[in-house]
Amino acid sequence: MRSILLTLLVAVAFVAGCSRDAAPGADVAAGSDAAAAPVAEYDSLSYAQPEKVRIKDLALALAVDFDNRQLAGSATYQLDWVDPAARELVLDTRDLTIEKVVGERTDGRWEDLEHALADAHELLGSKLTIQAPRQPARIRVTYRTSPEASGLQWLTPAMTEGGEQPFMFSQSQQIHARSWVPLQDTPRVRFTYTAHVTAPQDAMVLMSADNDPQAARDGDYSFTMPQAIPSYLLAIAAGDLVFEPIGERSGVWAEPAMVGKAAAEFADTGKMIDVTEQLYGPYRWGRYDMLVLPPSFPYGGMENPRLSFITPTVIVGDKSLVSLIAHELAHSWSGNLVTFSTPKDQWLNEGITSYVENRIIEELYGEQLADMEAVIARDALRATIDDMEPQAQALAIRPDVRVEAGDPLTEVAYDKGAWFLHFLEERFGRENFDRFLRGYFDEFAFQSIPTTRFVEYAKQNLLAKYPGKATEAELDEWVYGTGIPASAPQVASPALQAVDAARTAWLEEGTLPDAGVTAAWTTQEWIHFLEGMPETLDQGQLAALDAAYEFTGTPNGEIAMRWYPLAVRSGYDRANDEIAVFLREIGRRKLIMPTYGELVKTPEGLALAREVFAQARPGYHPITTGSVEDTIEAAGQAPAE
Ligand SMILES: [Zn+2]
Repeated sequence: MRSILLTLLVAVAFVAGCSRDAAPGADVAAGSDAAAAPVAEYDSLSYAQPEKVRIKDLALALAVDFDNRQLAGSATYQLDWVDPAARELVLDTRDLTIEKVVGERTDGRWEDLEHALADAHELLGSKLTIQAPRQPARIRVTYRTSPEASGLQWLTPAMTEGGEQPFMFSQSQQIHARSWVPLQDTPRVRFTYTAHVTAPQDAMVLMSADNDPQAARDGDYSFTMPQAIPSYLLAIAAGDLVFEPIGERSGVWAEPAMVGKAAAEFADTGKMIDVTEQLYGPYRWGRYDMLVLPPSFPYGGMENPRLSFITPTVIVGDKSLVSLIAHELAHSWSGNLVTFSTPKDQWLNEGITSYVENRIIEELYGEQLADMEAVIARDALRATIDDMEPQAQALAIRPDVRVEAGDPLTEVAYDKGAWFLHFLEERFGRENFDRFLRGYFDEFAFQSIPTTRFVEYAKQNLLAKYPGKATEAELDEWVYGTGIPASAPQVASPALQAVDAARTAWLEEGTLPDAGVTAAWTTQEWIHFLEGMPETLDQGQLAALDAAYEFTGTPNGEIAMRWYPLAVRSGYDRANDEIAVFLREIGRRKLIMPTYGELVKTPEGLALAREVFAQARPGYHPITTGSVEDTIEAAGQAPAE
């Protein structure tokens, strides 16, 4: 059930790409104890009971053990006992070994607390129930992680750029923090944290906290995160990492061989921060640094506060994919500052962020690029939304409807969400809408809110304030309706229209565009050129494109993720060797899943997919491994045609 459902969701999510990668869907009948929470606040992906007791602060003491692929140590929680009748603390865990649980008595001594680790639920992990009848102010859990922790990836030296030191990094979103720290793993709970981390002396350790660019690499590191964050923003990485500054308050951490290239590609980051501050108010997190991960990172980027984790696949030499940086930076406002409170409100993070991302791109690189990116995203959404379940086509689920599923994150959250904000901007005027959004970030700063709060705020601060511009029914249709509303504003991109004309001329007359024209094309134009191709091309056409543009073997993953599926569908075996190389070297799900998805449709393709996956698997992240496995398994189970 799970693999088939997941595959369906993945297919929907990956038919078309978006610039920052949807997460795998989670189909779950949780049976979570959070059932007592009000329906609008119900988080089916967590056992936590924050209406009874909340973690206010977390103090981690951890040792990084590369040989055993393990983090070991303790987590100490400062607790706020909200309900005087509460007698237990329930935490989310997955694959953790719990060694000891103690609570602080009023005389300052620590006493053992009874605790029980439930059998593991396939998706949610194991509920840890700690008996705490005296409501201690602090509780400490001593534990160690499993080498298979879903939120950590351990890389051997051979899997890194430098090839000499091992590497480890976390990916906590959506519910993987619980695989490396026992936590109330729900965005409804925000906490501050400190950490003392030890590691081999030659490994640099970084966290989503106050990393010091000048820190001595001595194997002993301390971190403080004074701003309260939800658990999915807890992050750690360790390896041969060096720093290169970009500006006063930003810079890049990467392996030595990568850091220069990365700093050059992301040189505009300081300007991006300035522009976003002018639009939406101060950046409230101190420094903004980026950590460039190995190619196995399963996502495009992860907005870990103060230290975005970034895929190296956006470093293509011409800054054409830096909208990913704009996206992760934008999360410093939409997401990290104002956070969705349950899985069914994720569009509040991703939709608003995608809108802000596009505004940053427009400010910095002009309308032409911003419009191209909007058109590409909307075309992708249009191509997929009608095939989705009605519930998945809506930005949010009505507050009185209880959903057990952890809704999959598809381009609906990202691109329909951004489109909704563009609609509001158009109706109320840019100046008014900018003021509104800035006010929204101030109003809900450091809170986690459901969709209903956004809707109420919009009704008060837009609809009531500027009557006659938009109706409540229109708002309702955008948030809870299916498909793309008739009121959706349209964007035209003359640059992409020129690409359409060039493609049509080639398909109809066999004339490829002039080399002088294509030499000036950006990644976005190449994406559009390929996306508009028919389902299949004949061998001669594919060979002609390859001869002119060398698509097979392209170092640009955005082009590869569109060219290889077309090649596979068309039976163009000449690309197979390079397809294998691409699938072995890259672990970013968005880039590789479309090709796996096409390969598994024929027996020969399925055999190639299995062979490549067997070779690539040791280098893939557990999240990517899960997606590929589901796709291959589902294809293997399908009846022979
Ligand atoms: Zn995002």
